[in-house]
Amino acid sequence: MSHALLVIDVQNDFCPGGALAVAGGDEIVAPINAMMDDFDAVILTQDWHPTGHSSFASSHPGKAPFDMIQMPYGPQVLWPDHCVQGTEGAAFHPDLRSDGDLIIRKGFRSAIDSYSAFFENDHSTPTGLRGYLQTRGITQLTLVGLATDFCVHYSAVDAARLGFDVIVQTNACRAIDMDGSLAAAQQAMRDAGVTLV
Ligand SMILES: [Zn+2]
Repeated sequence: MSHALLVIDVQNDFCPGGALAVAGGDEIVAPINAMMDDFDAVILTQDWHPTGHSSFASSHPGKAPFDMIQMPYGPQVLWPDHCVQGTEGAAFHPDLRSDGDLIIRKGFRSAIDSYSAFFENDHSTPTGLRGYLQTRGITQLTLVGLATDFCVHYSAVDAARLGFDVIVQTNACRAIDMDGSLAAAQQAMRDAGVTLV
């Protein structure tokens, strides 16, 4: 039985000064670095969008960041342009340890966003992470990173749904928290059987 650390989206654009900054996003870098040696595997995710991605408000005339729209796969929050492939904003925070086992990129298809490390936002297109974990014999996951109420939330719920034993280490996460999204995410994670510590 192996236990992996899943580090979600600790990228410059989600840290203070970035395009979609999460308050205190940089405060979790040191605690995450310190945790890495305690796990059998370390997997990092990276939000990785082409220019003009459909989740960007700038791709929808008349829309502003944080508006909601209907996409073919369901409701979608529109974001400021962020984590564009190859830019400094898409790079990991410079102090984050980069010696993880695997980097999984998501959100690289123009027409669909991907909050979860396991499935794109249609909840059915896989990223391949499940197969990687299964073939390495990993059954337990601890999640940390950004943001608690979006990518950590969706990744944790999907992992629990797939049968992994899932912990979210909340002191190494930070939230966007718009319109009660943090409380809703915490409830959804608990309902899915995720342990919040
Ligand atoms: Zn994104």
